[in-house]
Amino acid sequence: MQALAVFPERRRVAVIEQDEPRTLGPRQVLLRTREVGVCGTDREIAAFAYGEQPAGSDHLVLGHEAIAEVADLGSEVRHFQRGQLVVPMVRRPCAAARCRPCRAGRQDFCVTDEFLERGIKGVDGFLAELVVEEEGNLIPVPPGLADVGVLIEPLTVIAKGMTKLRVFKDRLPWEPMFEKALVLGAGAVGLLSAMCAVSNGYDTTVYSREPSDGERAAYVRGFRATYVSSVETPLGDVGRNAGPFDLLVEAAGFSPLTIAGIEVLGPNGTAILKGVPALGPERAIDIDRLLRGVVLKNQVVVGTVNAGRSDYFDAIHLLEALVVRFPESVRRFITGRYPLEAAPDLLSKHEGIKNVVRFDGAGAP
Ligand code: BGC
Repeated sequence: MQALAVFPERRRVAVIEQDEPRTLGPRQVLLRTREVGVCGTDREIAAFAYGEQPAGSDHLVLGHEAIAEVADLGSEVRHFQRGQLVVPMVRRPCAAARCRPCRAGRQDFCVTDEFLERGIKGVDGFLAELVVEEEGNLIPVPPGLADVGVLIEPLTVIAKGMTKLRVFKDRLPWEPMFEKALVLGAGAVGLLSAMCAVSNGYDTTVYSREPSDGERAAYVRGFRATYVSSVETPLGDVGRNAGPFDLLVEAAGFSPLTIAGIEVLGPNGTAILKGVPALGPERAIDIDRLLRGVVLKNQVVVGTVNAGRSDYFDAIHLLEALVVRFPESVRRFITGRYPLEAAPDLLSKHEGIKNVVRFDGAGAP
């Protein structure tokens, strides 16, 4: 069978031939991969700037945004049936006894950094025709979401952020009204975050580098958010004209923009940071001004990564809501479906919103 692998030492990304999995442990499930989304993390791994191959291997099979079909079951699997659609979770716990999050099944909060992530860190991913996964790492997907279920994993990161937001908002004992959200970045996570913000009643502005008369801006307006281009308008002006914002969602991974975003966050506001900035030369920032604002405005600034089991179920509910509320936007979100052979190419360029690898043997979406 075929898979897509990154060879970090040889600096190569290639479709490889692999043996099909032969045996299943009692609690394991054989999955026939249907679709796998390509994201910025995959592009970074394919550029040899991130990721880690399994111990003892010279390559990593890529892919973590997957939807698959159950093809076969280990003898003790109770909760799944052949043909059922599932999304596999990405992160696997570390082994340290002292890591209470991992021991509690919340490896998305791992404290040792020794967790594994399928297709990212130390364990092969889902860009393969067949994969084996433990029953406990699978989330059942309603058949009605078959054609968009590949968006569940990216939505889990947003769902986890929304849970944190709810907790922080609970500290405010009044009913907020006419709330405003600012989303930094119009990539897949930024756009999905903005859609969720609109769907939750926020007057939402998306701020990104694409021009305001471009396709991305039109796409944003299609789900009733405002688009402002960073090429045309400084963020301070956005704060003055459309702010103050109650919620900042950072999905650009560019720290100067994040700092500027926190500076236009309003009193009692929450900033949720999702982008992972690339490490580079030190940058100068006015930290006194930044922290003075955070303290005097009672703000919350929180980072969030990965997702736990409950976030997967929340992501499914979010997706169901988005499909009803913005059917056209959700349909247009997946900009292309490609065969595995096209994957090396997809990984080297940045076009469209969400490009997906679709496997031949998969049923109709
Ligand atoms: C994935 C997360 C993962 C993170 C860091 C993201 O692209 O969606 O599941 O934890 O990368 O590796």
